[in-house]
Parts: sequence; structure tokens; C-alpha cells
Amino acid sequence: MGSRGAVAWLADLVWPPRSLLSDALVAAPGAIEPELWAKLSFLTAPLCARCGRPLPQDEGEAAACGPCIAEPPVYDRARAALAYDDLSSRLVLDLKRGGRRDGLAVFAAWMAQAAGPLIAETDLIVPAPLHWTRLAARKFNQAAWLAGALARRTGKPWAPEALRRVKRRPSQAGLSASERRRNVQGAFAASKRAVAGKRVLLVDDVLTTGATAEACARALKKAGAATIFVATLARVVRAEDVSL
Ligand SMILES: [Zn+2]
Repeated sequence: MGSRGAVAWLADLVWPPRSLLSDALVAAPGAIEPELWAKLSFLTAPLCARCGRPLPQDEGEAAACGPCIAEPPVYDRARAALAYDDLSSRLVLDLKRGGRRDGLAVFAAWMAQAAGPLIAETDLIVPAPLHWTRLAARKFNQAAWLAGALARRTGKPWAPEALRRVKRRPSQAGLSASERRRNVQGAFAASKRAVAGKRVLLVDDVLTTGATAEACARALKKAGAATIFVATLARVVRAEDVSL
């Protein structure tokens, strides 16, 4: 646990619990006042069977979105709990920049719900590795926190070190979809011993263009993973949110 994590952990013990979305006092850690809860955009069917993007109309359980039909992703299926918007981005930023941990159990519950059918078929949970530019400034990986919380929630084993970064790459922020894809190509490597023959659930905070998930999935496939699922707390739904 880094010093920041220790401070956040102590704060959770000493201070009365605050809403995950405001300064309002709440009954228990990880709670959200009903007015803001009602504004969260949970992703529900109809969804693209592959990437979990919301579809305009229900075309059956196997329906895929346009981008997945044009170019199927390397991973098998992805699901996210929330649409990435002004409200859910507060949760993500508090987690990844603020090191706020009191929402983890709640986030894991939402992700377990959104990715339930995937988790039922999962052998091993693996977090996306922390971006190298952030590693120096921060001692924690929010994807690993989410993966650990999801493992505790579901009873599935997890392997925090199974996937790692092997190449230094600039941040994805502000890059287009194709730039993002090029940027993360070959950036990851997975442990054969950990993942070979397994159905792996990759966990990250946000699915943006999917470039990072694709690169991680490629590394997992190369190491012999049988199936690759992806579960995230949020996913970008509108193209204009990609640069967030
Ligand atoms: Zn899709």
C-alpha cells in the first residue's frame, strides 16, 4: 500500500462515510444518495453481444454492433457496469487519481452484475497493468484494486501479475482510435504459466476505444489463454468522450 493508499485507508476509518458522488454524509461507506444514484447510467440490454455497447433496438441475444461486425475484437466478450459520462467519470477519477477505495465493494457488485454470465465461465481474473507514466507518480493500480474486489465478490481466483507492460508508451489521453491502437501494440506480455488454457476475465476501470483491452487480449491469447472476457466499471458510449 502506498502512502496515498494508507491515507485513504485511514480516512475511511476515521471520518464518517461520504457519498461516492458528493460531500453528503451517508449511512455506510460506498453509498450514494438516491437523487444521484438515479442519474447513474447503468448499461442494460439491448447490448452488443461482443463489446457490450448499447444497441438502439433489441435484435436478439447474439446481435453485434456495427464496429464489431466490421472488425470483431480480439477479446470474446466485454461488459461494463456504467456508461462513461460526467457522473460516472467522478467515480473513475476519484479511484484512479484520488486513490479512493471506499467504493470498491460497490463497484465490484455492479461489475459482477453487468458481467455475470462472463464471470460464470471465468477461471482467472487478471487486471490490466498500470500505465508506466503513472507508475512513477503513484504506487497503486486501480485496475488491480477492481480486480481484487471482484475476486473477493465472486470467489474467483485472480492473478495481479499475470499481465505486465513490456514497452514504455505515451499516455493514451487525447489520441484517436487508430493512434491508440498503434500506441499500445506489443506493449503487454502475459505469463504462460498463469493463463495458458484458461478462460480469463480482464479487468480495467474504463473501456475507451478498446485499444488497451485489445492489446491485453492479444498478449493473453499469445500466452495461450483459451477465452478472454473483459469487465470494466464504465465504458465510453459516445465517440466524443474518447479523449476524456
Ligand atoms: Zn460491439
